[in-house]
Amino acid sequence: MRVSRLTQEMGKLGSVVVVIPVTAAVLKAPRSSKMPVAVGIDSLLGGSLFGELEAVGFKPDGTENHEIVRVAADSGGHRKVFLIVPFEHKPDVFRTLMAYRRLGESAYACAKRHKISRIVVVGNDIALDNGVNLAAAVEAVALGNFDFTECLSKKPDAHVIDDLLIFGCDELDERAANAAIATADGIKLSRTLSLLPPDRKHPLDYAARVEDALASFSDRLAVEVIDQAALEQMGAGGILGVNRGSDFPACVLKIVYTPKGGSDAKPIAFIGKGVIFDTGGYSLKPPAMQPDMKGDCGGGNTVVGAMRSIAAVEPDVPITAYIPLVENRVNGTARVPSDVLTSLSGRTVEDLNTDAEGRLILMDAITLAQRDGSTTLIDLATLTGACMVALGNTCSGAWSNSDELCAKVLAAAENAGDRMWRMPLLPELDADLESGVADFANIGKDRMGGAIHAALFLQRFVETGTEWAHLDIAGPGCNKIKDRRAFRGGPVGTLVNFAMSLSS
Ligand SMILES: [Zn+2]
Repeated sequence: MRVSRLTQEMGKLGSVVVVIPVTAAVLKAPRSSKMPVAVGIDSLLGGSLFGELEAVGFKPDGTENHEIVRVAADSGGHRKVFLIVPFEHKPDVFRTLMAYRRLGESAYACAKRHKISRIVVVGNDIALDNGVNLAAAVEAVALGNFDFTECLSKKPDAHVIDDLLIFGCDELDERAANAAIATADGIKLSRTLSLLPPDRKHPLDYAARVEDALASFSDRLAVEVIDQAALEQMGAGGILGVNRGSDFPACVLKIVYTPKGGSDAKPIAFIGKGVIFDTGGYSLKPPAMQPDMKGDCGGGNTVVGAMRSIAAVEPDVPITAYIPLVENRVNGTARVPSDVLTSLSGRTVEDLNTDAEGRLILMDAITLAQRDGSTTLIDLATLTGACMVALGNTCSGAWSNSDELCAKVLAAAENAGDRMWRMPLLPELDADLESGVADFANIGKDRMGGAIHAALFLQRFVETGTEWAHLDIAGPGCNKIKDRRAFRGGPVGTLVNFAMSLSS
């Protein structure tokens, strides 16, 4: 998809969907002072536009979900589809971005319905000259054709948009538009990995798929698989311990991004939980909760998607991704509650609940990243139900030992339209992780503050001098995963924006 400013006459475009966002200002203004474009289109539609909008009680805040479509054909038989979308800027950034996202979604859906591959957005009355707004709309159009069809015997047609043209806008932030397309590609990869059934993504299969998916970026991304034998040799007891219940070997997928011309800086580390399937282990999950658990690699999938996007937008900071890949299952050798695992760092952990396994693989990955020299870490994980109880299904929790790093991550999330909320690392809850037999336990003494316990557990593996943020994406990472089209997935855009914000 190409994004550019409309510089030629609309009449010469062939078949096209013309998206007209209608705001309160346009509706309320007397006809003489309405923006010329809207008046022009109104005339084109026989002077019916504004009258019709009024007649149906069209509300510009989008809450009524009205769309009005008019189809006209020019002398060449090309169709001009006019899509009127209610639009209003909201008082906060997130809700404004949702309005731009919705604009893009409506535009794509209309173009698909009419089998047209060119879209013009009339931008006179909205703020598409702002790169953040533009990115939200572009990303939504680019994501329109996402579907997961690998498991369907008959694949539906994917409708592709070739051109997205912006009309009535002085500046077009091309960098933002291209980053949005790259982010959409990363989100698609991330969602595909989440939606894949567990028997198609055992750890080594997952790694091979990712290697394939990233092959076109091999000049910038080096993919390395740290296999089970290597993990045994180094003593990654958390990763190996969790995977003991599986018949398939564990691995760590490492993706190294090197900017053009190289860099002497220490790499930023993105760490993503890659539990391919989480039965809960012997602390078994109830049946109704199990199908969603193919998404328990959501943190890893988000990181993989972001690395793909980052390779396309090329920030000048080195980034290394670590995705520990395991399955949390039950068999004769699976760990049982009260087993003690020895982490890669050498410290011992009493496993009091085998369903609190994500932190056991992350602890080793955090050590691995620090041994490789990273002093800035961001980990992402579908980690706790407690985080969903606190923040709902759409919002991630963020914990950090650095106000500065956390502020950057939250700003990146806001501009990506990803819901994220900072949570506290309460020192008084840290003592709850005590164990009677090992250095400490993997869960707190009771359920209260469970998401904080998980963060405090991970913090124990963060060394002095390392800045670290932990994102619990349990909500967005699994929300609606049963519906392949409704599933949105983790905060890929947050990581892409974060990387871009560090780039000069
Ligand atoms: Zn679990």
